[in-house]
Amino acid sequence: MNDKLLSERLKTVASFVPEGSRIADIGSDHAYLPCYLMNKQIIASAVAGEVNEGPYQSAINQVKRSGFTEEIAVRKGNGLEVLFPGEVDVITIAGMGGQLIRDILLEGQEKLTNVKRLVLQPNVAAHLLRERLSDLNWELVEECILEEDQKVYEVLVFDSGNGKRPYEGMGPKELLKSMLVGPFLLKKQNEAFRKKWQNELTKRERILMSLSNTEGVSHKEAQVRNERDIIKEVLS
Ligand code: SAM
Repeated sequence: MNDKLLSERLKTVASFVPEGSRIADIGSDHAYLPCYLMNKQIIASAVAGEVNEGPYQSAINQVKRSGFTEEIAVRKGNGLEVLFPGEVDVITIAGMGGQLIRDILLEGQEKLTNVKRLVLQPNVAAHLLRERLSDLNWELVEECILEEDQKVYEVLVFDSGNGKRPYEGMGPKELLKSMLVGPFLLKKQNEAFRKKWQNELTKRERILMSLSNTEGVSHKEAQVRNERDIIKEVLS
């Protein structure tokens, strides 16, 4: 497979897959990620999972073209139901919303028993993953943020471990901030990070403007106001 087929976004996901892993790429679509990882001899095998017929066929074709039909199994099904327990040690899920990624992981929890690493690239709502996976003892070990084609993407890496470790010693305010923007990203604050959170601040300012004509302070308004204040502090 030509390396140029793979976006910087998916190359970043690939960079967190340890050598020799058996991976599952859920919502694999064209299966570019597992084909690239096989081509680079980074992984031993892969399952490419897809719930929709079109992307499923596209994955089958790409795997055939790449000559990896022995090493990459393309399976049709919802989330982790395509996996047998203990079959893989790394799961990648990229290009979906944080809520959908979280739900896929929660629904398939029994398939996570032997999984050592999750490499997740939520298009939105990464905080839902930080919050829920921390409770389930998935330890956030690295985060990356990058801009490609004028879109900003976050990649979160969780290892099976102590879910509370990245947030140790934080007070309630610091914890909220870290869950929202990411404890590692907060420390690095690169250009992509500042661009993302500047946009998110603008979005919240707009929401608050539109709510300002309605009576009383709703739960939603209070939440948006709180997030707006956190983001302002982060960017200050
Ligand atoms: N992972 C690829 C990437 O990052 O370029 C494809 C991302 S694409 C936007 C999302 C893919 O996830 C679609 O092909 C969709 O069919 C698939 N998908 C959505 N929900 C799914 C689920 N519950 N289980 C498996 N695949 C799913």
